[in-house]
Amino acid sequence: MHRLVGHHEARQRLARSVRSDRLPQVLVVVGPAGVGKQRLALWLAQQLLCEQPDAEPCGRCQSCRQVEGLVHPDVHWFVPIARPKATDADKQVEEAAEALAQAMEERRARSLYVAPDGMASHGMASVRLLRRRAALTPVSGKRKVFILAEADRLVPQESSPDAANALLKLLEEPPADSVFVLTTVDARRLLPTIRSRAVVLRLGRLSDEEIAEVLRSAGAAAEALQVPAAAAGGSVGAALATGEVGGAAYDAAREMLEAILEGRAGVPARMERALRQTPWAARGEFTAMLDALADTLGDAARAALGEQPRRTLPDSLRSRRDPAALIRAIDRVADAREAAAGNVNPQLLLATLGEDLAEVL
Ligand SMILES: [Zn+2]
Repeated sequence: MHRLVGHHEARQRLARSVRSDRLPQVLVVVGPAGVGKQRLALWLAQQLLCEQPDAEPCGRCQSCRQVEGLVHPDVHWFVPIARPKATDADKQVEEAAEALAQAMEERRARSLYVAPDGMASHGMASVRLLRRRAALTPVSGKRKVFILAEADRLVPQESSPDAANALLKLLEEPPADSVFVLTTVDARRLLPTIRSRAVVLRLGRLSDEEIAEVLRSAGAAAEALQVPAAAAGGSVGAALATGEVGGAAYDAAREMLEAILEGRAGVPARMERALRQTPWAARGEFTAMLDALADTLGDAARAALGEQPRRTLPDSLRSRRDPAALIRAIDRVADAREAAAGNVNPQLLLATLGEDLAEVL
């Protein structure tokens, strides 16, 4: 796992709470994608389990090394996973445990932020597994730390009230020896009932130097390092995303925006063509495109407010002076992003989104 970079104020606050034994048992870490929310959660796990903690975890004791190697028996990192195939509830839990073990294996191999597949979620099986593990005595004798990454991907209450309720019950009365750290890009996407039980910690964007430092410490590919950190908008994920998949995502987003804005008067033929040409081999690529779309619109909104955009904007967006319309457009993309987590046809979703955007832009 690469070193935690930046977020010094948040670290100090957390270290102080740990020292005075006043750390909230349920924390929600909120911040832009790729700024290191899950990495900070791991840092907190180190701090809680370190044999000689100070303002920072020592980094040398067995506990610190186990956390960093993602093998500590009391650190349970839940990332969104694909829905289990088994029909039997116990088998589903086993399947979820295997999927999580595999996800950890992948994270050990490549330590940097990887945006999860758009279809992945925290389903009932994951929540059951979480509850089982929460009931165990900590192996280290100290505490258990649960990290629930992208907690907004907890399956919506309507589709699985059991999953949401089971998690709620756990967070309502967390076992005294457990700390839960949920991460999300937007606290509003969490169930209000979950949000109300948690203390929110906000992380800001990283500086250009900090992003470069993360990429260096993770031994990121030379190609990624050549990306000017400024273009990443304070996010390591975005810096990496300007590589292969990300580059294509931004190209597709630009194509889509241009088609929408040009075709406003008549049939958006160019957009139809753009949609047909994009195969969306993986859900991850599709959601990366939606993220790129939101990011581009965000950039245009900043430009409309007189700020310097981080990337070259599509011509049609360069001279916009109405940030409100752009922000409404970002909201529509966020809705589509949420819908994309469900079982929908990307082409259909994009067509609807295209109409929505043409309307608000
Ligand atoms: Zn230590």
